[in-house]
Amino acid sequence: MAEAGAAKSYHTRKYQIYFAGVLLDALWLFILLFGGISLQIRRWSFDVHDHFYLGNLIYLFILLGSFTLIHLPLKFYSGYWLEHRYKLSNQNIRQWLTDQFKAGALSGLVSIVLLSLMYGLLRAAPQSWWMYAGAIWITFSFLLARVLPTVIIPLFYKYIPIDNQGLKDRIRRLFDECRVPLKEVYAIDFSWKTRKANAFVCGMGKSRRVVLADTLIENYSDAEIEVVVAHELGHYKHHDLIKLFAANSIFILGGLFVVDRILKGLNSYFGFSGLDDIAGLPLVILVFVALGVIMTPLSNWFSCRIERGADRFSLETTNDSASFISLMTKLGEQNLSEMEPARWAEIFFYDHPPLKKRIAFAEAFQANNT
Ligand SMILES: [Zn+2]
Repeated sequence: MAEAGAAKSYHTRKYQIYFAGVLLDALWLFILLFGGISLQIRRWSFDVHDHFYLGNLIYLFILLGSFTLIHLPLKFYSGYWLEHRYKLSNQNIRQWLTDQFKAGALSGLVSIVLLSLMYGLLRAAPQSWWMYAGAIWITFSFLLARVLPTVIIPLFYKYIPIDNQGLKDRIRRLFDECRVPLKEVYAIDFSWKTRKANAFVCGMGKSRRVVLADTLIENYSDAEIEVVVAHELGHYKHHDLIKLFAANSIFILGGLFVVDRILKGLNSYFGFSGLDDIAGLPLVILVFVALGVIMTPLSNWFSCRIERGADRFSLETTNDSASFISLMTKLGEQNLSEMEPARWAEIFFYDHPPLKKRIAFAEAFQANNT
């Protein structure tokens, strides 16, 4: 019971942080737009350098820097303080800051490159820019997904060998049974950062792989780990990464189209010098933040459907609902998950079905198959 209480208070704080972050973003974006601050930052930037791309670059540094400053306290509270308070983190402050710096530098670099390209397109092709920008963004996210296992993950984790030969044989048999051409399962050193356990399938084309956290391998039986791997193979067999990628691409294109309409409608209202005036960027971000919040329930619903399909695949392949249920129960305890979150929280925050539902699903499967 104490465990359930801790899970509830932990997640309540996480939800509060999320809403605080969205509210702060919205507030700052409104101030930038309606207070004329964005125009002012653009004037300063172009006073420093009046070349189109260099002026834009200075503006981007200031704007992205301001968002980093706003989010740092929230990130510290949610990602460091709270994780330690609930004894989920194994990182010291220096390690945590290093990770934040690496992640921030990476996402900052990607944002600056993509946004510079987008403003170049707004200038060169004001009518059809959003289609070109969408094509670039989609290509870029494909490339990012492709290098995720080989380039991005090694920036934050180390791949480590799986020593348990019995487990390796078991996994190889499972691969053969499912006729999956993946060569092996990879393990990463989660344990020096967190107590939580996780597993996922990632990558595109040749880089595709199943990754298990060492915290999973250490604490779970071979049968339970087989259930996890079978779930990940379900994603592989159902082409779920491609489905999610396609859904995301539609969102990007749709979002850019809405941005195009809104920019053209409100451009003169805010006093921007044209579509390609980077002072309008807060408006672009505001549209994407709003669309993101609106689309979250739909994207979670889609993701939960996919997860249910992978659970079904796992149960059908292993035919071991007892291990499935013990796995879910242990994961819930280890990760301090809410077994049964409030309905609104489920709609907004759960891209996997809550554990109680996954357990009930396995129990129903067992009842139907005995
Ligand atoms: Zn999954």
